[in-house]
Amino acid sequence: MSITVVGSIAFDSVKTPFGERERMLGGAATHFALAASFFDEVHVVGPVGEDFGEPELAVLSTRGTDVGDVEHVEGGRTFFWKGEYGWDLNTRETHDTQLNVFEHFKPELSNPSRECDGLFLANIQPGLQLKVLDQCTHPRWVALDSMNLWIDVARDELIEAIRRVDCVVLNDAEVRQLTGKASLLAAAREILSWGPSSVIAKQGEYGASLVTADEFFALPAFPLESVVDPTGAGDSFAGGLIGYVVRHLDDLPSTDVMRRAMAYGTALASFNVEEFGTERVARLTQDEIHERVEYLHAITSFEHIAVELAA
Ligand code: AMP
Repeated sequence: MSITVVGSIAFDSVKTPFGERERMLGGAATHFALAASFFDEVHVVGPVGEDFGEPELAVLSTRGTDVGDVEHVEGGRTFFWKGEYGWDLNTRETHDTQLNVFEHFKPELSNPSRECDGLFLANIQPGLQLKVLDQCTHPRWVALDSMNLWIDVARDELIEAIRRVDCVVLNDAEVRQLTGKASLLAAAREILSWGPSSVIAKQGEYGASLVTADEFFALPAFPLESVVDPTGAGDSFAGGLIGYVVRHLDDLPSTDVMRRAMAYGTALASFNVEEFGTERVARLTQDEIHERVEYLHAITSFEHIAVELAA
């Protein structure tokens, strides 16, 4: 099994109440690949500039991720994002977004990337997401992420892409913005009516909810005492989730698989936020992931014994 991802490969400048980093490796595809590489072979598709060197490529290749479709654009500069978080780590302010090499990027996938079983259209222009989707020959499960910027400037293309995927993974605010519905459940159902079989609403430190035609499931975020940098949490979540789903494609459709996938996504995201950028997930181990999934299972299960209630 293999997974292809297209999305930003970036340099991020991030400030949180706990410190700051200038031009560290980031990007949606980067965070996704680091997490998904625990489960399957990952192929990363996207451009980088001349400022993207061997050390960054080495991190992107962690656990055998294929970077053959990472295009080095001569004279170009890598995507750049600058953001800041206050004490409420669920919201952030974007100070700068420079698409740079993504502006004129025309994806040309190699055969290994085209022949993927799972495809993640990570956050990037919806037009590019569609171009990658068009080139994949037989993806069995496709998921998509996006953000407020693309809902604002490329809504029609985004909806066209959503119609063609199995799963939509968005922040709760984006689910509401996209549909104009205040209720998360009603908003998710509207997105389901466009074609996908599941919608996942990420709710930052409050966890994530899964909505399908006849199921609702929610998990809290993994309880942590220290969160240092939430950047990339959503993409690490997607990496754990999609990595797990793609390992169990033959069992789909399955509520159990989706619920367990939510737990793996939650565990991966929890490691991501403990340190800046890719630092923590790059040196993560399988045992650490399993330990957190087991803990999540323990804290979210209870035995229901009905009692007689007072009239
Ligand atoms: P997340 O925190 O999971 O939403 O993703 C954070 C990553 O998204 C950062 O590493 C940024 O480089 C990347 N990012 C920020 N803005 C954009 C954008 N407009 N398009 C694509 N990627 C972006």
